[in-house]
Amino acid sequence: MSSAGHVSSWYAASAHEAPELPPLCGSARADVCVVGGGYTGLSTALHLAERGADVVLLEAERIGWGASGRNGGHVGTGQRRAQSELEQRLGTGHARVLWDLGLEAVALVRALIERHRIDCETGSGILHTAWKASDDEALRREAAHLQQRYGYTACRHVERAETARLCGSEVFRGGLLDAGSLHLHPLNYALGLAAAARGAGARLYEHSRVTGYRRGRGVNVRTAQGSVQADRLVLACNGYLGHLEPRIAGLIMPINNFMIATEPLDEATADAIDPQRLAIQDSRFVIDYWRLSADRRLLFGGGENYRSGFPPDIASLVRRRMLGIYPALADRRIDHAWGGTLAITLGRLPAFGRLAPEILYALGYSGHGVPTATLAGKLLAGAITAEAAGFDAFAKIPQRRFPGGTLLRYPGMVLGLLYYALRDRL
Ligand SMILES: Cc1cc2nc3c(=O)[nH]c(=O)nc-3n(C[C@H](O)[C@H](O)[C@H](O)COP(=O)(O)OP(=O)(O)OC[C@H]3O[C@@H](n4cnc5c(N)ncnc54)[C@H](O)[C@@H]3O)c2cc1C
Repeated sequence: MSSAGHVSSWYAASAHEAPELPPLCGSARADVCVVGGGYTGLSTALHLAERGADVVLLEAERIGWGASGRNGGHVGTGQRRAQSELEQRLGTGHARVLWDLGLEAVALVRALIERHRIDCETGSGILHTAWKASDDEALRREAAHLQQRYGYTACRHVERAETARLCGSEVFRGGLLDAGSLHLHPLNYALGLAAAARGAGARLYEHSRVTGYRRGRGVNVRTAQGSVQADRLVLACNGYLGHLEPRIAGLIMPINNFMIATEPLDEATADAIDPQRLAIQDSRFVIDYWRLSADRRLLFGGGENYRSGFPPDIASLVRRRMLGIYPALADRRIDHAWGGTLAITLGRLPAFGRLAPEILYALGYSGHGVPTATLAGKLLAGAITAEAAGFDAFAKIPQRRFPGGTLLRYPGMVLGLLYYALRDRL
């Protein structure tokens, strides 16, 4: 069965058939060794292989086993932070470059799906909804700013009554509709990228956890049963990096986020909730996000924890949040509940960089990784084949380290996150 070895989720239950790939056994040689089989690693492998590089990708579990196979599937424009904030933090020139790269990221996802005929339930449009009047004001200002300063006319502010019609709930004060965004089935997208990478000649191995590596005439990368001697190494492990590379572990904090899938809804209910089949996300600090699957399940995400391990009853935790928006779904069955781990950075902008000329990394997409990790792969491939401008635009974002480096090593930070999560509820 194709989804064996994935966590139990609606995505795994609806995954397309994909071959189980063998583990790496013995020694191999490659131009580039990529560690991690999520969007970052798969897109890197695909773009390098298309440029003629000999690539080996090592995934500890299954392709798409990490956040890439478990997420909300929202493919948003821009970066994780509002453009107006980026201008203040980074200056208008750098903010503009990142805006353009954000547009390129969504266009790249769309182009890859089309070029490689990836069947992943692609839909258009994200509605951002405001819980508070101040959130609505912020969305109104941001929509005007994007239209005026960036000429981005695909987005507009929507008043309260229209927001209610678009999302079938009266609880929101207004919203921002971004018709330029996409949404998709994340695991089938990852599996499609993997098929494309293999088709371009990349060698992908599953069940091949990298246990360490050593520099010296390139990099020697070890797994339990084999090793790869490569000229370059790309670390694409995001929230699952663990202790593999302590020098970048401190740049990120892994956090767990949760999702549920309802039973299939009847057409009238689905049309009331989401008549235009948009993806929707709200303005909470711990964001709620949802969309309808092709078989009309509500796929609803929300809730976080900051320790290793998921809470015992994810379904109840996320259902409570869903009912706060859609009380009419109280009698609907929850068929699937699951969690995943993503990496955030302190500034909520991704961390790209080089640990040595031959060792590159990209991670910490802070909940915006479907587009940005896909783009990261293209930019990592570019940096390796001498077109580093896009990679360097991300690499020059100032990054601060979390005190510590892995889950549970920074209680002060966790307290801060819990404080903001509590404010959502007040
Ligand atoms: C519940 C949830 C909802 C989300 N919703 C959204 C959303 O709607 N929109 C959005 O843009 N983003 C969302 N995100 C974030 C997004 O999923 C991630 O940013 C993105 O998938 C990161 O891709 P990646 O390839 O860098 O990491 P991952 O997909 O996590 O892949 C990393 C891979 O590295 C492997 N690995 C780790 N260590 C090793 C090792 N030593 N050897 C070999 N392999 C190793 C892991 O097994 C894993 O498969 C969400 C995340 C979660 C968890």
